[in-house]
Amino acid sequence: MTKHGLATLRQTIRRFRDRFKPAPLILLYHRVADLPSDPQLLSVTPEHFKEHLEILRNNARPMALGEMVRALRDNKLPRRAVAVTFDDGYADNLLNGKPLLHQYDVPATVYVTSGYVGSGRELLPDKLERLFLQPGSLPQELCLTVKGHTHRWDLGDGANYSEDAYRRNCTWNVLKSGSPTPRHHTYRSLCQLLYTLPEHDQRSALDALMVWAGTEPVCRSSHRALRADEVCRLAEHRLIEVGSHTREHPVLSALPIAAQRDEIQESKIHLEEILGQPVISFAYPYGTRSDYTAETVNLVREAGYDHACSNFEGLVRQGTDPWQLPRYLVRDWDGEEFARRLKEWRVCD
Ligand SMILES: [Zn+2]
Repeated sequence: MTKHGLATLRQTIRRFRDRFKPAPLILLYHRVADLPSDPQLLSVTPEHFKEHLEILRNNARPMALGEMVRALRDNKLPRRAVAVTFDDGYADNLLNGKPLLHQYDVPATVYVTSGYVGSGRELLPDKLERLFLQPGSLPQELCLTVKGHTHRWDLGDGANYSEDAYRRNCTWNVLKSGSPTPRHHTYRSLCQLLYTLPEHDQRSALDALMVWAGTEPVCRSSHRALRADEVCRLAEHRLIEVGSHTREHPVLSALPIAAQRDEIQESKIHLEEILGQPVISFAYPYGTRSDYTAETVNLVREAGYDHACSNFEGLVRQGTDPWQLPRYLVRDWDGEEFARRLKEWRVCD
């Protein structure tokens, strides 16, 4: 065998061996809260989050994301390393998450959607959840014109939604195949229809929905984003790093380049003004491969970020792109299920 052939063989063996070594990974959380209705399955209860952290502390090697990225670039990725991240910037990250992260000394990066900071606005799926999945009365027919196309829904006997019906259906979530009432069907299709719209069109559609429902936009304390002073409190003591999740949480790939640049740069500037320190970590909203493009990645680099997180599964290995770091989405699992998942993802033996 030639020298080159031997080197290739060694590399192949090393890669094969690496496949079976407990590898580093990044976890993606959104909320630490106990909510009666969580149709997007984004909340982990404080009890379960505590169990997760205890397992990470005892069985893995919790590590700050920035440190993991440095190790990746230096070709020194440690085994069993786990980085914790949160997307969106809900107030419960500070109120419920931070005390537990401190108790277990687990570092985390919280990606804040800067336009929502102290805005008194709920994020899109929360607005729709409040309108359609909470008990109350709505007009039976909904006609909504979006980009010149009129969509119609009939809420039927779901127009009047009783407390009893709410309690029966409040554990429903979007991963279930069916919709128990026309309200759930409408909620599901509106989430789908509105999430890719540019900010202006989305706001117009939501304003029209509020008028139709005869309600004012409100922000529930259980669903609010962090305020500016809370963003600072989150980043105190350096266990938690604040990163950017854009200004308005758009699907970046649906926007023209200039609008993408604004979202990526303005959120960085805004958060840096709040914190008085550089913001160098970014997470693409929604984060699947279709939610951003190669140009988006370039814009993130040009804006002065150091690395960026996506939202597709994968371990962090030598060769992983630090501008598209894979993450595992965490659901409201108890400790036993969480430990089983870590094993399945090969963090633990
Ligand atoms: Zn998000």
